[in-house]
Amino acid sequence: MKIHEYQARNLFAEYGIPVADGEVAQTPQEALSIAHKTGFPVVIKAQVLVGGRGKAGGVKVVANEAELISEFNRIKALNIKGYTVDRLLVARAIDIKKEYYLAVAIDNIKGDVVVIASAEGGVDIEEVAQTHPEKIIKFYMQGTKILDEERWAPIAAGLFSDVRLQKSATSILQKLLKLFFEKDCSLAEINPFVIDDKGNLMAADAKVIIDDNALERHPELVALRDMKYEDADELEAKEKGLSFVKLEGNVGCIVNGAGLAMGTMDEVNLLGGKAANFLDVGGSSNPQKVLNALKIILRNKDIKVVLINIFGGITRCDDIANGILTALKQIEIPVPLVIRLTGTNEKEAKALLTAAGLTTFKSMRQAVTEAVKASK
Ligand code: GDP
Ligand code: MN
Repeated sequence: MKIHEYQARNLFAEYGIPVADGEVAQTPQEALSIAHKTGFPVVIKAQVLVGGRGKAGGVKVVANEAELISEFNRIKALNIKGYTVDRLLVARAIDIKKEYYLAVAIDNIKGDVVVIASAEGGVDIEEVAQTHPEKIIKFYMQGTKILDEERWAPIAAGLFSDVRLQKSATSILQKLLKLFFEKDCSLAEINPFVIDDKGNLMAADAKVIIDDNALERHPELVALRDMKYEDADELEAKEKGLSFVKLEGNVGCIVNGAGLAMGTMDEVNLLGGKAANFLDVGGSSNPQKVLNALKIILRNKDIKVVLINIFGGITRCDDIANGILTALKQIEIPVPLVIRLTGTNEKEAKALLTAAGLTTFKSMRQAVTEAVKASK
C-alpha cells in the first residue's frame, strides 16, 4: 500500500528524520495559512501516488502569496498520469545545495533488505542504475535489522567527505531502517535527500510503501489508505476472504491455495494462454466463496473462459461444486467453465456437477489445455 508524501513525512518526523515544516492543504486559503506559519518561500507539491510529479509540473517553489494562490490553483487542476490532484503539501522550501538519494528497499532476487544510496539524487534512480551503475551504492542487510556501523561507514564516506555529514547520514539511515522494519515497509525512500544552506541533511521528499500482508499489524496505517488508488475488485475480494490480483489475460482462474494458483497460471502460460487473474479461494472454502469469486471474475469483460482448479485437502470438492451450482442459478455465466477437481469428496462433487450437465477433469494438464483452447 502506497501512502502520500505528507503521510510518509509524518512518519519520518515521528522517527526523527528531519523534514521541513509543512502541512497538507485542500484549498488556497488553507495553503496560505500554512505558509503564514512556515514563512515564504514554500514548496507546494501535488499529493498523487504516482512517480514523476516534479516532471509533470506538480512541484513548485513559490515566493509570495499571489504566486502561492496561482500555482496552487494551477497544480490543483493538473491531471498527473490519469489522477486528479485533491490535496497539496505546503512546506517551507528548503534552500537545496545538493541532492542525494537514500532508500531502504527489498531486493526480491537476493531475498534481502538493501540500503541504496547515491550522490546522484533528485533524478530518476532507475535511470542512474541503468546509465551509471557505479554511482549507486548498495548495502545488503544480510538478514539483520540493525545497521552495522563499521560496514556502513565506508559507504557514508563514499557519499560525504565531511565527517559531520557522514555521522548525520548514518543517524538518519538508522532511523529510516527502524521505520522500515517497524512499519513493515517494502520501500522507504528519500529522494532527494538534501544538504540545505545551513549544511544540514534533510528529507525533501518522502516515499513509503507498506507491505499489504502486514497491514493487519498496523491499523494506524490502514487508516491512511487512499481509496482512489485501490482496485475496487481487489478490495472487495479481500473483504470476502479471497486473494485476488487482476492480470492482463483472458483465462479467469479460481484456484484453492496460493501455490496451486501460481502453478495454474504457469501452466496456462506454458500451454499458450494468458491468465486474467490470480485468485486463491483459500483453504477452508465454502460455496459462498466460489460464488463471490465467480461474481468478481466475471466483471472482467476480457474473459473468455473460467478455469476452476481445485486440489481438495481441507477444501472439500463438494463445497466447491455446490458453489458452482449456486452461481449457475444466481448469476449469468456467459463463458464456458472448465472444472478440474481432485481430492477430498471428489466423487460427491463429480456426481453433483455431472447431474447438472457439467464436465469435470481429473488432470490439471487436461483442464488447462481445454481452458486455453476455449480462450482462443
Ligand atoms: P517527485 O518528482 O515527485 O519525486 O517530487 P520531489 O518532491 O522529489 O520534487 C522534485 C524536485 O523539486 C526535487 O528534486 C527538487 O529539485 C525540487 N524540490 C522539492 N522540494 C524542494 C524544496 O523544498 N526546495 C527546493 N528548492 N526545491 C525543492
Ligand atoms: Mn522525489
